[in-house]
Amino acid sequence: MQGKRPVIVSACLLGFSCRYDGGTKPLSEEVIERLKRGHLLIPVCPEQLGGLPTPRPKMEINQGDGKEVLKGTAQVIDENGKDTSQALLRGAYQVARYAKEHEIVLAIMKDGSPSCGVYTIRRRGAPVEGMGVTVTLLKRQGVKVISEEDL
Ligand code: SF4
Repeated sequence: MQGKRPVIVSACLLGFSCRYDGGTKPLSEEVIERLKRGHLLIPVCPEQLGGLPTPRPKMEINQGDGKEVLKGTAQVIDENGKDTSQALLRGAYQVARYAKEHEIVLAIMKDGSPSCGVYTIRRRGAPVEGMGVTVTLLKRQGVKVISEEDL
């Protein structure tokens, strides 16, 4: 890894077209270049890792946030009313396992997402305070998680 510190990054922030609508939300080239100087950027999309297709219906956590989904007291429901909690949990555990195996201590995740939200998720289309499922699990394992807003 050429002495660079590995950092997990939401794949859509690195230009991968993995968002629910098939789009991407890339960081600016300047920010990506700056990050690359000291870090090895590892793109992950927990929702694709969990087996969901792209594009896919929009999803929201129906109450609380990622903590409740991990406890089993809230669900992730897509816009067609389908419960996709298991897929998001599968993706979250894969990312968390990878972070543990590679001793990753920092992640940069896309805010607002039911998987990657750091400070906010969305409910009925509007931002509310809370963390996504993957971010909750990473933090629980001691990984520092920041969002694109912190760069
Ligand atoms: S799950 Fe995360 S990485 Fe994948 S598209 Fe949503 S915000 Fe981006």
